[in-house]
Amino acid sequence: MPTEPTETHDLIRFENVTKRFGDTTVLDDLCFSVRPGRHVTLIGPSGSGKTTILRLLMTLERPDAGTIRVNGGKLHPADEKHRREVRKKIGMVFQHFNLFPHMDVLRNLTEAPVRVLGLDRDEAEQRGRDLLELVGLSDKAHARPAQLSGGQQQRVAIARALAMRPKVLLLDEVTSALDPELVAGVLDLLRDIARTTDITMLCVTHEMGFARDISDEVLMFDSGKVIESGSPEKIFGDPGHERTREFLGAVL
Ligand code: ADP
Repeated sequence: MPTEPTETHDLIRFENVTKRFGDTTVLDDLCFSVRPGRHVTLIGPSGSGKTTILRLLMTLERPDAGTIRVNGGKLHPADEKHRREVRKKIGMVFQHFNLFPHMDVLRNLTEAPVRVLGLDRDEAEQRGRDLLELVGLSDKAHARPAQLSGGQQQRVAIARALAMRPKVLLLDEVTSALDPELVAGVLDLLRDIARTTDITMLCVTHEMGFARDISDEVLMFDSGKVIESGSPEKIFGDPGHERTREFLGAVL
């Protein structure tokens, strides 16, 4: 008989997390959890707190109340040494790529593995070249980011995150700054990664087709709370909440 999921099966847990900016409560006593290897998509209106969740996980923000656990351990965002450890295990890809503009593509991929993980440069370069092949940019190893299209830059940013061999990959609206014709290539790459690796993925996206394809679970947010969660078939096919129906009606 399958065992019920327990705390020890969760790679990520938000326990009664509240986050405020000034007078605005962005996350309100939020609870959710993600088991290892799952692909979870966060959807919901702009301003509902989705990006803040990813930034909290990355220790770029601190909660005002509650506990966030990764692999059972509590996050301590105030502790710089701890932040470095967390960022070894969690990779994040941003809307605006955030590549190092003064480094070539290969160096963008090798910098953190060398400096943070202590890989020797040859090993990091081999890893970097393998990843450039994966993302279809082997011929761009020595280009600067500014010489690449937005889609190519985003593929480099994905490769850069993977170069750290993270347990968790956070994707924050990674196609929303791209020209429409460049979106499909990036989403196809992410579909491949979701299919062929065991990385746990948390993904904020407005691409509902993509969310439907890659997600094991979809969380619908509104005003800092999960108002509905379930399989993509359930959320997209038969949403239970009026706000979900309204939101999907507006974006689909
Ligand atoms: P979403 O990703 O769902 O669009 P966000 O998590 O980006 O939502 O933002 C939630 C709310 O928090 C928004 O109202 C946003 O303006 C506010 N917010 C986010 N980051 C900050 C910040 N650093 N300072 C002040 N307000 C912020």
